Amino acid sequence: MPKSKVRHILGLSGGKDSAALAVYLHDRIPEMEYFFCDTHKELPETYEFLERLKARLGIQIKYLEADRGFDYWLEMLGGYLPTPKARWCTKNLKIIPMEQFICDDKAISYVGIRADENRDGYISRRPNIKAVFPFKKDGLVKSDIIQILEDSGIGMPSYYNWRSRSGCYFCFFQRKYEWLMLSEKHPDYFAKAIEYEENHKDGRTFTWNEGERLLDLVKRKDDIIRRHEEYMEREKQNAPEKPLAEVLADVLDSQDTAEPCFICQL
Ligand code: SF4
Repeated sequence: MPKSKVRHILGLSGGKDSAALAVYLHDRIPEMEYFFCDTHKELPETYEFLERLKARLGIQIKYLEADRGFDYWLEMLGGYLPTPKARWCTKNLKIIPMEQFICDDKAISYVGIRADENRDGYISRRPNIKAVFPFKKDGLVKSDIIQILEDSGIGMPSYYNWRSRSGCYFCFFQRKYEWLMLSEKHPDYFAKAIEYEENHKDGRTFTWNEGERLLDLVKRKDDIIRRHEEYMEREKQNAPEKPLAEVLADVLDSQDTAEPCFICQL
């Protein structure tokens, strides 16, 4: 592609908002380049959802990889797991590969933040990259996004009935209920997440959740699930017409004010 041409890029996270944006813009911007920053720590449901998107829209998705993966950086950092305040994973596995992909080209980056969100996150400060927010501009909210995906025949990612955000299976932005569901849906990944916490030569333990090991979290499973079900019941009574995935997302969002970065979770 000639350097003078402005590139149009859309980063897919494996979540509903960026996927809906791809559907929304597909006919309007035929030259759009779609990409996904693959950490190799993703859920299989994420890859399956991206395949569905590709097939339905007839698009190519470029899978971007960091030169060095998560385990390399973890070792370099002495086993120090990433946290909301130290998101070295986002920087090394998502942002740098994206900037390498764009290089010095002029690019418009389409971001799926909705009109009903007051979210901030990574927007490249590079002068050659301009971020735009079509859903914000056109006033589209969560129910519109779900409708776009339903109407397109793509639907929601299948993990949405137990987890409301895309991202790595061990993402520290997961809520306690989501960790417990990971232990049920993907016990092998849950076991690996425990290994990341426990398996350090010097005997130290790092935790994904502040102050609580996963081994201790599972001991409180019944209590966490019971409370989650109570919240769900209340939310369903308040809004009986809401789809279940939306009820779940609202319940989980209400328990957590942490804002994940949208390069991972949109
Ligand atoms: S999804 Fe979570 S763990 Fe994975 S790169 Fe993003 S912030 Fe880090």
